[in-house]
Amino acid sequence: MTNQPRINLDLETASCPMCGSAPAPTLRYDFDPYRVVDCPNCGLTFLSPRLTESAILKLYSDQEYYVSEVAGQGYDEYLEVRPNWIKTFSRRLDQVLKYQKPGKVLDIGCGPGFFLEAAQTKGFDAYGLDPSDYIVKVAREKFGEKIQHGVIETADYSAEAFDLVVAFDTFEHIYRPLEWLNAARRVLKTGGLLAITTPDPSSALAKVSGKKWVSFKLPEHVFYWSPPTIRRALTDGWEILEINRAGQYATLGFLFRRLFRISAPSGFVKALINFLNKFSIYSDNGSMTVIARKV
Ligand SMILES: [Zn+2]
Repeated sequence: MTNQPRINLDLETASCPMCGSAPAPTLRYDFDPYRVVDCPNCGLTFLSPRLTESAILKLYSDQEYYVSEVAGQGYDEYLEVRPNWIKTFSRRLDQVLKYQKPGKVLDIGCGPGFFLEAAQTKGFDAYGLDPSDYIVKVAREKFGEKIQHGVIETADYSAEAFDLVVAFDTFEHIYRPLEWLNAARRVLKTGGLLAITTPDPSSALAKVSGKKWVSFKLPEHVFYWSPPTIRRALTDGWEILEINRAGQYATLGFLFRRLFRISAPSGFVKALINFLNKFSIYSDNGSMTVIARKV
């Protein structure tokens, strides 16, 4: 799935945030004009060249980006995705609840607020942060001032404000991941938890899918972390509690429409899809969840 930006391509080369620019990265896949490359030193996979950060932020602030990503195009695709995200986030929260009681949680990259809905149901006091003007307006309709516009590196939360920080399907979008981790750590209480779910290029699904892996989502996904590389990034100030396979829920209607490439169902097919949407299944999508404690 490729979202071509509707702007002039403003490209830059990137280097491994942990090892620097030498030796030069090796090519994994060419997605002209983007390339997925590997750091020959630590194995981190990343996009280079990539869009500049200002160009990608323009893309994210565009309402059209979310029309296909979140809201669905006409019809009731929105109804297909919302309950699935809430179930997916509830499942990820259950992983965290093995280690701590519900407390104050910040969702970085909160989108329309599906995580906040799941977290409130489980007893958390939930807050959200997102760089998109458009999606912040959508999320504020439901959550008001609990939603902030911006990025964690410059957000004005007080230090040690949260028991839990989550970044679900967000960390792969982050341009300066080490600075991001420091900023996330700053707002966490000592002993608080960070939970990240992000695509893992060393997963079985990624290996089987090769260049067609669903998570090579360009130009948005700029870093592809694996268990060894995320361990390396979380060496200082963190204790890793677990790294596990992750996935997401999808309704049978959603999978049926994808399988038969149905975009605008009507009549019997629409009725069938609405029926199938009552059921959903969980499947591994080649992502991993990392839970780490601030020490
Ligand atoms: Zn490296």
